[in-house]
Amino acid sequence: MDKKDLEESRARAREARKAINSGRIGDSYHSGRYTGAGSPKAQTAVEKKKDPAFLKTIITLLAVALVLGAVALWLILGSNEEIFVEKNVPDKAVGTPVNEAGLEIHYLDVGQGSCTLIKCDDEAMLIDGGPDAKGTFVQKYLNDQGIKKLKYLVGSHYDADHVGGLDVVIYKFDCETVFFPDYLRNDTKASRDIADVLKEKSLTPVHPVVCDSYKLGGGFFSFIGPLDGPLGTGSRDQNEYSLSLIFYYGDKSFIFTGDAPESSENEMLSGGSNLKADVYLAGHHGSSSSSSEAFLEAVKPDAAVISCGKDNDYGHPHDSVLKRFEKRGIKVYRTDLNGTVILRSDGKNIEFSTER
Ligand SMILES: [Zn+2]
Repeated sequence: MDKKDLEESRARAREARKAINSGRIGDSYHSGRYTGAGSPKAQTAVEKKKDPAFLKTIITLLAVALVLGAVALWLILGSNEEIFVEKNVPDKAVGTPVNEAGLEIHYLDVGQGSCTLIKCDDEAMLIDGGPDAKGTFVQKYLNDQGIKKLKYLVGSHYDADHVGGLDVVIYKFDCETVFFPDYLRNDTKASRDIADVLKEKSLTPVHPVVCDSYKLGGGFFSFIGPLDGPLGTGSRDQNEYSLSLIFYYGDKSFIFTGDAPESSENEMLSGGSNLKADVYLAGHHGSSSSSSEAFLEAVKPDAAVISCGKDNDYGHPHDSVLKRFEKRGIKVYRTDLNGTVILRSDGKNIEFSTER
């Protein structure tokens, strides 16, 4: 799916919604009532005219009209996939942003680790869940945000600073689709906890491949990595198999690469995906092993968010990376200095706010 398809899809959604609101299509789709004989109009007809033949004709005509209306609605909405998949959703939830901004991305301050909440229109997804000790913090944050359900949950890779807190989230929230790399580790507590909770909640993880795309509200995201999996028994580090994606909303885009190092960035560069993004969650917490010059040249971000703990043991972010950002005029936000970083976008502009 490309952006043009999505734009067309959105335009059709807007038209359909306008038609619903103006009464041109009627509310039968929303209420789920397709029984012509029981409709208020049919009852009125019964009261006006008791003639059984006439009544039968009226009911038949109404039924035919309703079926034709349903078919027309199906033809209009059929290609819009998930936007209209939900049954009997409240009118405001159909393909229209319910808040002014449309998109919010919360880069949570989880100390040394990474956890990003994306709220798009009326739907939400989470990329990583921070370390084990932050599981309940993430749970409370999601509760405070009014999140009841995560349409998607992405575990970029099995390092504890990314999936440590995810078991709590998966346990406490309704997660529709969960993404994990196509191998399962069982040699760490974090990865064993994930395996346990997936089993308990009867969730089968999806292992995405590059170009797999999914809708969230009026936005969508496409996986851009990893390109060379699975981990198998090779000598490569699991960071190199970080699930990486770009989220698109209107004219704006946001890139997430987990702890993917330069070797993986090079694969993404040679993989053919357009990596341009307005905001970059700095790979591997701003480590010098990521954010190569070539990668930054392709992404060309206006802003970078670095998710790292204050005075962490790894020296993240590394000075060399901060210098690369500075040289390119990339505005930097850091969770260790700024706390949780929130951006809001209407698809045309992006506004940042920070906890401190
Ligand atoms: Zn990490």
